[in-house]
Amino acid sequence: MASTDTLQRRGLMFILSSPSGAGKTTISHMLLAADDEIRLSVSATTRPMRPGEEDGKDYHFVSDEEFDRMVEEDAFYEWAHVFDHRYGTPKAHIRAGLKEGQDFLFDIDWQGTQQLYQKDQQDVVRVFILPPSLEELHRRLKGRGTDSTEVIAGRMERARAEISHWDGYDYVVVNDNVDTCFAKVREILHAERMKRARQTGLIGFVRGLMQG
Ligand code: ADP
Ligand code: 5GP
Repeated sequence: MASTDTLQRRGLMFILSSPSGAGKTTISHMLLAADDEIRLSVSATTRPMRPGEEDGKDYHFVSDEEFDRMVEEDAFYEWAHVFDHRYGTPKAHIRAGLKEGQDFLFDIDWQGTQQLYQKDQQDVVRVFILPPSLEELHRRLKGRGTDSTEVIAGRMERARAEISHWDGYDYVVVNDNVDTCFAKVREILHAERMKRARQTGLIGFVRGLMQG
């Protein structure tokens, strides 16, 4: 929610994308830990809950019928089949949150970014994170230790295609030093919050200033 020392404002949809391994997850976690006014967008999915997951926190877990109904009612900003299940970004709670000044973080690829942008240009802020070099990207993917050599080779092959979408973003930040990159991403978020069009409390505030 907007903190007490700022004017009432509309929330924003903050999108972070990057080629796999460039640091999108790292920066997302830092942002969520550092800033109370931004929350991760929670998707709906038809896949079963995994141990340790929580309904409403990791995902909204819904049945196939419920998902069908939501698609029919145009309840998603976007949705997709991933593996054997369906995933989508539900509109209702995001719309309500934006109105109250809640910001939402989206950790999504360029296709998801395009879809969200088409649905709601005024609320979307698109940030793309680049690695300093492909050699460093490879080092990070190896260093992360989550993928096999084959998976890393696949990610490296896709990296060039992903990087080619850099011009579909409002901001591009090179993640060389992680703290510097995080500071830049925060500056973007802070500045975007102050955009005149988002400060819904301005008219009343300025009117008060004039009268006082
Ligand atoms: P993505 O979510 O884009 O796939 P991650 O955030 O998982 O990428 O980062 C990939 C790996 O690189 C992780 O091990 C992370 O700790 C590391 N990393 C992220 N940013 C930097 C950086 N600026 N310098 C060095 N290592 C980094
Ligand atoms: P998992 O089942 O491992 O949580 O997620 C599987 C995949 O679904 C991931 O690649 C993730 O990015 C994708 N995914 C999660 N939520 C959404 C969503 O709302 N929309 C789309 N298009 N993909 C999603």
